[in-house]
Amino acid sequence: MDGRLSDTWAEISLSRIRENMLNIRKSLPDSVKLMAVVKANGYGHGDIGSAAAAEQAGADYLAVAYLEEAFRLRDAGMKLPILVLTPIRPELSPLALKHDLTLTVASAKWFAEARVYKPFASAGKLRIHVKMDTGLGRIGIRTLREWDELVPWLRAEDIEVDGFYTHFATAGQADTDFLERQTARFVEMKEWVRLSGLTIRHYHCAGSAAALRFPHLAMDMVRIGAAMYGFYPEQLVRSVKLEPALSLHSRLIHVKKLVKGDYLGYDNSYRAEEDEWIGTVPIGYADGWTQRMQGTEVLIEGRRAPIVGKICMDQLMIKLPGPCAEGTLVTLIGSQGEQRITVAELAAHIGIVAQEISASLGPRVARTYTDTEEVHARWDNQIRRNEFKQAVV
Ligand SMILES: *Cc1c(COP(=O)(O)O)cnc(C)c1O
Repeated sequence: MDGRLSDTWAEISLSRIRENMLNIRKSLPDSVKLMAVVKANGYGHGDIGSAAAAEQAGADYLAVAYLEEAFRLRDAGMKLPILVLTPIRPELSPLALKHDLTLTVASAKWFAEARVYKPFASAGKLRIHVKMDTGLGRIGIRTLREWDELVPWLRAEDIEVDGFYTHFATAGQADTDFLERQTARFVEMKEWVRLSGLTIRHYHCAGSAAALRFPHLAMDMVRIGAAMYGFYPEQLVRSVKLEPALSLHSRLIHVKKLVKGDYLGYDNSYRAEEDEWIGTVPIGYADGWTQRMQGTEVLIEGRRAPIVGKICMDQLMIKLPGPCAEGTLVTLIGSQGEQRITVAELAAHIGIVAQEISASLGPRVARTYTDTEEVHARWDNQIRRNEFKQAVV
């Protein structure tokens, strides 16, 4: 098995990621730029591979949550602009400048502190996007007074204000009332910029849900995360074709027969109702397969098999349709024959969003890429090296 040590692996199709991005691209006006969000290891799909696939689909910008995620992309040789979505500590700004990163700024205080560490001019302009809070209540400027305090800092010679953005709280909800209120507030805030006389290149507010549902909100750029990996509630957007890029597989490492009345799992969490075959699969909550997945199903020999008993840290048990050989393929996400288990189905079952499942897949789950050559020969080595690291660590 291509040198992989782990019995549990995610298979990622980079051409699916590329196709998803191309389809999103087609659904938007030509002038709209595409920012590919590859934070959290590309929502679990691998950051470098996902970024390479997005780049090949014509992405204009990359985004990550934290500084070290951006360093990984630069180390791999990614040249696209990278926006760091979470404000970093001011004293780290020289590092960001050195790696040619774009920072999110959400207060005048940040600049005041950053200046203590280094005037930026000596190393070139510091590129920033200003973050506005229009209702999510997470990060950003909320009031005109805060904006007025920020403006003098934005006028500095060594600062390039490349973007101005906000994030929606309810873009995936059927009820669009709050989204409309946030949009109206953002339009009002854009007026603050105009009145201050500043020129800013990119105004953006839409993540996947808003971009797909309301293309008129795309403005200058959209920030695409979930949709790029193929996660999207189809009931809200049928017009854009998206396919999941990730499947997850493992193998039975142990098979046994329980007799009626035998217990199984921590806290005797399951009891055999009859004589039944049980298989053990080497994936657990430390790999991201949360204990709440108890009661969901996996695929084996083309059939569905329930997870029984509490999920352990490193293993889980399934009730087999009958005796199966050790080593038999188990599919946790993906298809076997006619049967298919989607991330969306699992997420709905336990009441979380689909991307939480993929983003939670830990480093012990090996990643294998099915089609790197098609995506970009240039990145193949980087992606493979990354994959190998993940496989052996
Ligand atoms: C994560 C994130 C996104 C991507 O959101 P999706 O819904 O996954 O497309 C966009 N913008 C910001 C600010 C984010 O933090």
